Amino acid sequence: MLGLLLAGTVMAYVQDYKEMIVKYGPVPDAILDPPVDTDIADERGSLLNNIFGNNRHYRKQARTKACYANQRVALGAIEMYNMDNATMYKTLIFSDIADSNGLMVTGKYLKTPLSLPEPGCYLRNYGDLSDIGIIYCDYHGCLEEDRDGLRSASGYKPKARSVSAGNNGMLAVFIALGILSVGIMIVLHNVLPKAPPS
Ligand SMILES: [Zn+2]
Repeated sequence: MLGLLLAGTVMAYVQDYKEMIVKYGPVPDAILDPPVDTDIADERGSLLNNIFGNNRHYRKQARTKACYANQRVALGAIEMYNMDNATMYKTLIFSDIADSNGLMVTGKYLKTPLSLPEPGCYLRNYGDLSDIGIIYCDYHGCLEEDRDGLRSASGYKPKARSVSAGNNGMLAVFIALGILSVGIMIVLHNVLPKAPPS
């Protein structure tokens, strides 16, 4: 029974995502392919980071979660606003949630303006926030369940990722420098006058 109920809920969501695309047009790229995913994949794939044990991608993932938390808080505030006010809030204006004199803060729907985990964070809406709409970030994208739903509803195909050329280029430079310095030592060894045998 519970399984049936859950299956029903999931179906309803898929329908909503399809409806969103019909109503509101193509899904923004920042939702389907958020830039943070590419950055995390690059840092994971980077040979230098693997050699030196750099865990930057964990910190990026933590900041992504913080951004998702902000998105939930913002959506909750807007839902409360829409219950209280006859004029519905449909389109997110970023300053309404991020500035101390923004509408959601002065209206006490947010205790404090949202603090952004990353300078590239900029929250927007896709769809109508008083109807079926979601919030997403230009850098971090949207909540995973919405992203997955919108991906399947839009027939999204993941892009093939190329290994980051920049970081591997750096590694090549290090190796070249290493070979060069060994070469210089060999040359110096042959050129410099030898110490007289004692
Ligand atoms: Zn963000």
